[in-house]
Amino acid sequence: MPKTPPTLSLFNTLTRQVEPVRPVTEGRISLYTCGPTVYNYAHIGNLRTFLFQDLLKRTFRAAGYQVQHCMNITDVEDKIIRDSQGALAADASNEERHAAMKTLTDRFTTIFLEDLDTLGILPADHMPRATDYIPQMIRLIQDLEAKGLAYVREGSVYYRIAGLPQYGCLAHLDREGMQSGASVDADEYERDSVTDFVLWKAAKPGEPWWASPWGPGRPGWHIECSAMGMDLLGDRVDLHSGGVDLIFPHHENEIAQSEGCLGHRWVNHWVHGEFLMVEGQKMAKSLGNFFTLRDLTAKGVDATALRYAIQSNHYRKVLNFSFEGLRGAENALKRIRAFRARMEGEGSAGGGPWKEALDSTARLAQARESFWATMADDLNTPEALAELFTLISDLNAQDDHVALIREERDAVLAFLDETDAIFAAWPHQAHGLDAEVEALIEARRAAKAAKNWAEADRVREQLRTMGIVLEDRKDGSTGWRKA
Ligand SMILES: [Zn+2]
Repeated sequence: MPKTPPTLSLFNTLTRQVEPVRPVTEGRISLYTCGPTVYNYAHIGNLRTFLFQDLLKRTFRAAGYQVQHCMNITDVEDKIIRDSQGALAADASNEERHAAMKTLTDRFTTIFLEDLDTLGILPADHMPRATDYIPQMIRLIQDLEAKGLAYVREGSVYYRIAGLPQYGCLAHLDREGMQSGASVDADEYERDSVTDFVLWKAAKPGEPWWASPWGPGRPGWHIECSAMGMDLLGDRVDLHSGGVDLIFPHHENEIAQSEGCLGHRWVNHWVHGEFLMVEGQKMAKSLGNFFTLRDLTAKGVDATALRYAIQSNHYRKVLNFSFEGLRGAENALKRIRAFRARMEGEGSAGGGPWKEALDSTARLAQARESFWATMADDLNTPEALAELFTLISDLNAQDDHVALIREERDAVLAFLDETDAIFAAWPHQAHGLDAEVEALIEARRAAKAAKNWAEADRVREQLRTMGIVLEDRKDGSTGWRKA
């Protein structure tokens, strides 16, 4: 890998253009991704976003960057309070209310982390919980107040959007239509009601609260990410990502809070992943097409095939999830893995139809270059994978005709490792297997030498049940591959 990693380009929602990512510090990328609100199971639409961000992070890493990734856990928010307080008595103490909230969020944080693990998503370097950052949020709101960008109304604090000239820059809002002075208390609202938004919410009866300069209350959702992101990744962040549904109001409001406080650009590149549809329809519980990861694995869906099915589509295109698509993903993976097993084996000489000999080294170098060129162009995974499949078919044909030598096979395997570092779906699985297989092949050779045909057949059968196919060569040696 070269010392200075290659420049990768990504679509920037801020400018609506594919632009090169030029990190604040050479060779390093700071990445903030909005994490889950932990009150329920993540559905596959949410998981698509997390899989896209894993691809984004792994691509920068595989290209040679050091990535600092922060993903928050939202553990205080409107829906969490709604779902955690119902069983409590009206006169429950604040401690009891906090405990009930924590029971719910701890449970779904664990489930969320298990889902990431099942999908092969790398954990973030920082996974802050919002409730651990209340003092930072309060300081940030005080700072905005001091700068004239926030005002208090009945114990709640609101952001004055008229005070920030760039408000609306991310969602490309029309400033004419903004209703400054009107305010919204909800964490989520539509773009046709652009108003001052809440930073700190005065406690209502039946809600957990924290003490603050404005009286008892709790943070709004948007301030959480600004406070955690600035605390952990600093004042200048390279990449910030979420699903397209977060562009407005969440990310617009994060920009308002952080840039209002800092007085300069906070995030250089905003990267958003598209929605997911199921069998051509919007996912909805009422349509019976609403799936969590556990719904799918219970149906026998392989998590790695799901990962591949999602990542093999471009992240900026609406993805139509279907069970047929999953079968296609399974077949694609079978093909890559069979090729890998073939390259791990020794290969047998010739026998395939005549084909003009290929310079496998040059062919591999060209495929690697094309792969990286397409990935560097806004993570074009469909084309990058097409490149990989063309290479596989060329090298399979070559290997049928004149077996690749060990050195060539190892170079191909190194490329498969490099691509697997991004897609995490065709790992080297022969740890301990090679030695075991070689020992059995040796036992079979010894049995044959001793004319113990029954034993030789027994060993061959044992290998077959392990998924190993033997290839006896004319020179008396035996190669093997995975079936
Ligand atoms: Zn966020």
